[in-house]
Amino acid sequence: MFDHLVVGAGFAGAVVAERLASQLGKKVLIIDKRPHIGGNAYDRLDEAGILIHEYGPHIFHTGSARIFQYLSQFTAWRPYEHRVIASVDGKLVPFPINVDTVNVLYGTDLNEEEVEALFRDRAEPIAHPKTSEDAVVSKIGRELYEKFFRGYTRKMWGLDPSELDASVAARVPARTNRDDRYFTDEFQAMPLEGFTRMFERMLAHPNITVRLKTDYREIDAGEYREMIYTGPVDAFFDHRFGKLPYRSIDFRFETHDVPVFQPGAVVNYPNDHDYTRITEFKYLTGQVHDKTTVVYEYPTADGDPYYPVPRPENAELYRKYKELADQTPHVRFVGRLATYRYYNMDQVVGQALATFDQIARSRPSLEISDIDRRVSDVDLGPADALQPPKRGRKSAAA
Ligand SMILES: Cc1cc2nc3c(=O)[nH]c(=O)nc-3n(C[C@H](O)[C@H](O)[C@H](O)COP(=O)(O)OP(=O)(O)OC[C@H]3O[C@@H](n4cnc5c(N)ncnc54)[C@H](O)[C@@H]3O)c2cc1C
Repeated sequence: MFDHLVVGAGFAGAVVAERLASQLGKKVLIIDKRPHIGGNAYDRLDEAGILIHEYGPHIFHTGSARIFQYLSQFTAWRPYEHRVIASVDGKLVPFPINVDTVNVLYGTDLNEEEVEALFRDRAEPIAHPKTSEDAVVSKIGRELYEKFFRGYTRKMWGLDPSELDASVAARVPARTNRDDRYFTDEFQAMPLEGFTRMFERMLAHPNITVRLKTDYREIDAGEYREMIYTGPVDAFFDHRFGKLPYRSIDFRFETHDVPVFQPGAVVNYPNDHDYTRITEFKYLTGQVHDKTTVVYEYPTADGDPYYPVPRPENAELYRKYKELADQTPHVRFVGRLATYRYYNMDQVVGQALATFDQIARSRPSLEISDIDRRVSDVDLGPADALQPPKRGRKSAAA
């Protein structure tokens, strides 16, 4: 008999399982229908011995010291600041758009104020931007929107930006400085030995049993008291209101017999080819190897559920499932698929820690002050792991 069945061994499931076992002494069974732990963050060595991310490139970044410190118990870190290049009009330019993007693209030598003025002149004022097209055009004008956003969004979502929520494009702003980092969070780093090794350490507690290649419907309800469910919420309720739409990606890996394939970790192709981007893993992992592996991403409508499609009618459909979920006793819904939201890894860790807090607080025999201490006083990792990476440091490709 287990206290908890945790369905899904990704970030959401692994964090809740680890906390329940290590902080409350609970016996936890964690299962996944896949043959591995780590969920979409799973990484492994490929046939050539190169560390790859099976479900597309995952870069860790967070503004939360608490989340970074929590994960630092299970991994040391490799400082890494992510940079993305876009291939536009036959030129390779920094993305998100910044001062250098504009200058390389137009062969100009504008300073920060002049680029700000250029964006202002070109912006088409829209009082309340509703769609992704509105969000971008109202900031930087139609020409840059068409060069960088329109084609990429159409490939990525199979929808025109005018059909998508403003929030989709708002995630990737244009900048009027020379900052060419993709993320600006205080903590940006990759787990030194990879994500899977970090998950192995999280789940190594003696109170945790891991079962792979197992669907939760195969587990007898008599085996556990409470379920933490991190799979798709619509599947849990047999899609009774209809399927929640997801965008999927067909990942195609290639290993090349050269140490370096492209000039940066990620090159975006907003306007050419059927794929959206190519990622070269060695930039992310720092691995030194004579060969290199890259992945091409071809967005598709079918396949594993990766990205919830952000449209008002889908939010409405999810609301119906959420109502059902809220009324379902002894099951908690946590994570990206169970709450139908695009969450980054750190946000899912935060959500999982909050769920643990709720479970811990609902136990009558423990004092709240005791729980607060257990939840927040996580051991810190090595001192240097907590330092945000130095600005301007380039990641080394072998
Ligand atoms: C292509 C791509 C790139 C991304 N890049 C980044 C990035 O750079 N940085 C970042 O912070 N985030 C990134 N993310 C987001 C990141 O993957 C998620 O935030 C994180 O993986 C969510 O964790 P989770 O546990 O909620 O879900 P998942 O990792 O999806 O885990 C859920 C698990 O539940 C299992 N499951 C589902 N149904 C069942 C069932 N019936 N029975 C048993 N098991 C089941 C699944 O097999 C899965 O392993 C990216 C996502 C994608 C798709």
